[in-house]
Amino acid sequence: MTATIIDGKQIADRMQAEIAADVVRFQAEFGFPPGLGAILAGDNPASAQYVRMKRRACEAVGFHSVAHIMTASSTQAEVEAAVAEMNADPHIHGILVQLPLPPQINEERILGLVSLDKDVDGFHPVNIGMLGMKGREPRFTPATPTGCMVILKEVGAQIEGANAVVIGRSNIVGLPVALMLMKANATVTVCHSRTKNLPDVVRQADIVIAGIGRPEFVKSDWLKPGAVVIDVGTNRVDDPTTEKGYKFVGDVEFDKALEVAGAITKVPGGVGPMTITMLLHNTLKAARRLAAVPK
Ligand code: NAP
Repeated sequence: MTATIIDGKQIADRMQAEIAADVVRFQAEFGFPPGLGAILAGDNPASAQYVRMKRRACEAVGFHSVAHIMTASSTQAEVEAAVAEMNADPHIHGILVQLPLPPQINEERILGLVSLDKDVDGFHPVNIGMLGMKGREPRFTPATPTGCMVILKEVGAQIEGANAVVIGRSNIVGLPVALMLMKANATVTVCHSRTKNLPDVVRQADIVIAGIGRPEFVKSDWLKPGAVVIDVGTNRVDDPTTEKGYKFVGDVEFDKALEVAGAITKVPGGVGPMTITMLLHNTLKAARRLAAVPK
């Protein structure tokens, strides 16, 4: 079997073109563009790079975008003030607090202060709670897990009734994607660092979501033939054959998995571009809701 390689970039490019066209209509109707506000505190170069990429994507689809860049020594009060300012700004419809925050900042409190109407990252505890509850719909769902779900639908994966195994239980990837799969009527098993017999658990999966952060950790002989594999992992590994001396690989042993899986995402170019696209999608959705509220 040779797996279908899922090109997330292609899906993302198509969706971003649709969003850009919607922005033109939005601007014509309301006289202003959707706006995203990003809050970055600290000196983590990866976080700074993510914020730059997100802002570039905003500009490419015609959004208004602002960033509040704060130092690693920012105080709780300063970060809270930045959130309050963006909550009150009528030109900002979505707020993104780039994680992780510096250790002196209470992340839970900050995420809980983001207006529910502007919580386009879907990390407000109320939104996460509603994601987990039967019969409730969160206003927004987190970008990376939503991107995984869109990819599954794009490749025509049967989710309802499928055995889905999620490897990783983080707040930003594993937990919310498991909740989303459960809402979509999959039978979900969540694995983590204390899971016993992980290969045997993964062998039961029609759908595998890997969000671990360990290069090529999931081996091809763990996969059920025909499984749909979504590899969220983005791991930098040395590669002297490249100009930069490194490359990015996923959590799944990609080349060998191609011979077993039914479909598998690329890394890079799989889930990553979908994450940004879902943030744009949520911001447009937030702007539409807020613009429709009578003043
Ligand atoms: P994280 O917070 O470090 O969580 C990793 C999870 O993997 C934890 O639940 C951990 O289990 C589990 N784990 C670690 N070692 C394991 C093992 N040997 N066996 C089974 N489970 C194990 O990481 P994260 O933030 O979720 O990110 C995961 C990966 O996704 C990273 O490579 C990250 O760069 C990538 N990522 C990509 C995107 C994107 O847009 N493409 C977005 C977010 C993250 P415990 O809970 O027991 O510790």
